[in-house]
Amino acid sequence: MALVTSEKMLLDAREGGYAVGAFNVENMEMVKAVLAAAEELHAPVMLQTTPSTVKYGSLETFAAIVTAEAKKASVPVALHLDHGSSFDLAVRAIKEGYTSIMIDGSHESFEANIEVSKKVVEAARPNGIPVEAELGKVGGKEDDLEAEADTNTDPLEAKEFVERTGITSLAVAIGTAHGFYSGTPVLDKERLSEIRKVVSIPLVLHGASGLSDEDVKDCVKRGICKVNFATELRVAYTDGIKEVLKEKPDTFDPKTLGKAGMEKVKELVKGRILVCGSDNKVIK
Ligand SMILES: [Zn+2]
Repeated sequence: MALVTSEKMLLDAREGGYAVGAFNVENMEMVKAVLAAAEELHAPVMLQTTPSTVKYGSLETFAAIVTAEAKKASVPVALHLDHGSSFDLAVRAIKEGYTSIMIDGSHESFEANIEVSKKVVEAARPNGIPVEAELGKVGGKEDDLEAEADTNTDPLEAKEFVERTGITSLAVAIGTAHGFYSGTPVLDKERLSEIRKVVSIPLVLHGASGLSDEDVKDCVKRGICKVNFATELRVAYTDGIKEVLKEKPDTFDPKTLGKAGMEKVKELVKGRILVCGSDNKVIK
């Protein structure tokens, strides 16, 4: 079917007590692998690209690939700009066919974050496009952004932020980090529950690669409606290719390598969809 926006998808998730899996894709093979997994499990799904990914492949190319592949799928698919780094990039993404936008002003001051998020909302909402923004800082490295220590989202600030910006979903910082974890992450789940009490729009969890299934499930129970998975998909894809090359170092056909990568990504994504509880949640 045609691409849908993430708005109803996330509201349905909030009502149903599950989360939509949002998977970062870097090429056609990863797009196909994520959609194959979603199709098999009858799960609504979000595909997303970061600014560095669109710099590599361009917005219009990703929009074209995802639109074409989604057309063949029977599950709802949204294409999301992950960690949108500027107003201009957000507007260009909408123009190229993205159906969901994140503007990330979390590295700015509270007021500057509100200002840029609100500006994107004002440009996106007349086009029916939902907007995710982030308050507080998710640790680790996402794309070219590096966050400093302890900057979990403050519940009262979150309430004010949502009211003043008009965003449709909020990414919260509760101790997760982008990339893989070196130790066991300590999540402030109470903080998440506190935010849920004062913010009614769908909440988003970033930095879920490497979290235990139990932690993800607990966060979903406490109000997370979208979970982002990025790093582990890249690892799975590359692992598939490495395995082929280890066994047959002379392999030169990109199709052979791509198939091996796709298979690994598909299996991983299926597992994550089950953890999010979004399987069999295609609501007509
Ligand atoms: Zn993120």
